[in-house]
Amino acid sequence: MTTATTATFPVEFCRHDSTVAQAWARVPEEPGANERTELKAKIKRLLKEQNAVLVAHYYTDPDLQDLADETGGCVSDSLEMARFGKAHAAQTLVVCGVRFMGETAKILSPEKRILMPDLEATCSLDLGCPADEFAAFCDAHPDREVVVYANTSAAVKARADWMVTSSIGLKIVEHLHAQGKKILWAPDKHLGHYIQQKTGADMLLWQAACVVHDEFKANELLALKDKHPLAKVLVHPESPDSVLQMADVVGSTTQIIKAAQELDALEFIVATDNGILHKMRQAAPGKVFIEAPTAGNGATCKSCAHCPWMAMNGLRNLARTLETGSNEVFVDPAIGQQAVRCIDRMLDFAVQAGVSKPAETYNQKYAHGMGPA
Ligand code: SF4
Repeated sequence: MTTATTATFPVEFCRHDSTVAQAWARVPEEPGANERTELKAKIKRLLKEQNAVLVAHYYTDPDLQDLADETGGCVSDSLEMARFGKAHAAQTLVVCGVRFMGETAKILSPEKRILMPDLEATCSLDLGCPADEFAAFCDAHPDREVVVYANTSAAVKARADWMVTSSIGLKIVEHLHAQGKKILWAPDKHLGHYIQQKTGADMLLWQAACVVHDEFKANELLALKDKHPLAKVLVHPESPDSVLQMADVVGSTTQIIKAAQELDALEFIVATDNGILHKMRQAAPGKVFIEAPTAGNGATCKSCAHCPWMAMNGLRNLARTLETGSNEVFVDPAIGQQAVRCIDRMLDFAVQAGVSKPAETYNQKYAHGMGPA
């Protein structure tokens, strides 16, 4: 097997005060065809030997998604990843995604071992919302219900009343608004603005953004629509308002995959991380999926529609993690106990709202390690 090398590169992201800060990402070198086959076989063997289950996000490498599907794991959005990991009987969860997903799994299942291919895979929303600055923001607005997006650190979640994901954020804010509550929202400004517009709720927004979705360009999308007049436009709500305005469907990753299956159209323009196209093509074979444009006026192409941190998950570092037990996720138990309250609140709400099945359903299904084949 050849030695793995990685390329490290800078990634700029926006902070709450509108300044630009710099982080970094590293992309594992792609293995060749033979090594790829060997690594997949090795990962399957190690998962079995270690009673471990693979939980992968839709934005990760297609090989990792296929491995999760083929080994009884889960490929999904962050809400479903959290529920699946909690309910599954396996004592080791291997989370292919970014840091906050591993932390959420650990918070929900503190007794389990949580491994990740690269612990430094982060997220511009998490980076753009440091816990100390966020605590000061909350202190300055004590009259507001604190609602945070899943893409935050454990310490930020520990300060929140509710955690939400993009599949349930709208419903939860609607519910709070109906109770007359004022909301402090963090960290994604575009998702916050979208929910504010939809619900009419009084929302004070933290000003961070996703380096992928923030890059989609409205004018160029318009030109692309002209070339594909029959295509439906599917947009994730972390995108700017000008792009959302052109959407036929706005929704979470799971919601837009479902739309691709159900809508009576053969072509779709997709404004979210291009990692999702793998699952879309499996879910709706015969349909055509086109990436929404990130190039154009003012383009920096920080991400070029693929998250630099999701791309840090590869076959080589996944195999190494399983082999060595390195890259285990730990969360300070005191912070975990605080943070779990806002996550459990969302999970309970999801069941009541009919967005998720009750925990017992999952427990029965996965209690013996049986996955969604
Ligand atoms: S795609 Fe955006 S929101 Fe998702 S992990 Fe990457 S930076 Fe964060």
